[in-house]
Amino acid sequence: MQKKILVTGGCGFIGSHTIALLIEKGYDVVSLDNFSNSHKEALKGLEKLTGRTIANLEVNLCDRLETMKAITEAAPFDAVIHFAAYKSVGESMAKPFMYYQNNIPSVINIAEAAVRNGIQHFIFSSSCTVYGDAEVIPVTENTPIGNALSPYGLTKITAEAQLTDVNKRYKWFKPTFLRYFNPAGAHESALIGEASRRPSTNLVPIICEVVAGKREKLAVFGDDYQTRDGSCIRDYVHVMDLAEAHISALELSLIQESKTDIESFNLGIGEGVSVLEAISAFEQVTGKKVNYAIGEKRPGDVAAIFADYSKAAKVLNWKPKRTIEDIMETAWKWEQVRW
Ligand code: UDP
Repeated sequence: MQKKILVTGGCGFIGSHTIALLIEKGYDVVSLDNFSNSHKEALKGLEKLTGRTIANLEVNLCDRLETMKAITEAAPFDAVIHFAAYKSVGESMAKPFMYYQNNIPSVINIAEAAVRNGIQHFIFSSSCTVYGDAEVIPVTENTPIGNALSPYGLTKITAEAQLTDVNKRYKWFKPTFLRYFNPAGAHESALIGEASRRPSTNLVPIICEVVAGKREKLAVFGDDYQTRDGSCIRDYVHVMDLAEAHISALELSLIQESKTDIESFNLGIGEGVSVLEAISAFEQVTGKKVNYAIGEKRPGDVAAIFADYSKAAKVLNWKPKRTIEDIMETAWKWEQVRW
């Protein structure tokens, strides 16, 4: 029988790309999104891409009763993939209350709704920020959970801890933590892509907007870090590779119904790329110059982090297939047509 999956944040960046792939793989999908930081056009893009009508529950996950009612009415579901959250490190430093008030209650409410409706499988969007400023890189899933360097990071650490507690009480409830490094790029069709309602604070969309003339200049946040060229190093992973990892994690959870241990997986490409290298990858792929200047360091940034994804490779049989060049190419293609 066709499995039915609830995808919160289904109109957001990784959510919409994961829905595209879920539908391609034959899942029945219901999106949940209140468009607080996404656009209705994502549903249209998905419908064009998949040839299906996508049901969406316009629900505020911070409202417990509204969440409980909507999910109970739309149930049964075989699994929840919970993406809906605010996602910017920089913005969270400026607006800590906004991050705590949104990301913490929403995860609790959706988890409660899952438990009350007997939904066993729960895939959670976590982040490499849970490792803080790791002493040893690349980081594995055994790297200690660090001191959060931002409110955003703390909301991810907290959510993992809370879901772990829920699993202790309801042993059948099975969360999987997917710790993303730096998601970027867009669907090859350019029918969906990153389109937050608030101005993006992420490197790749900002590079694209500068080149598209929507912003004047990119500020490179610091050039005196202890890295090979002084700029920060991150692990940029293509959003479609991430979407594939979600399908693998979901399928593993569905197959291993009786195994209710919590699993965590790092999802990155296992290579660090500096900000200056990312700029030159963009220039090389598109033939366009990026107007940038070295600026101040951004509070909350770690100098370098990248993934050891060998656990995902072994257990999920997942391997990222796309490069930083693929990221830049698809992100730029999307930038030119995005809503
Ligand atoms: N960055 C930058 N200028 C910008 C935005 C980001 O130099 O306008 C750098 C940032 O310091 C970090 C990297 O690009 O080293 C990725 O930042 P992003 O905000 O995309 O993701 P994060 O790693 O914070 O989750």
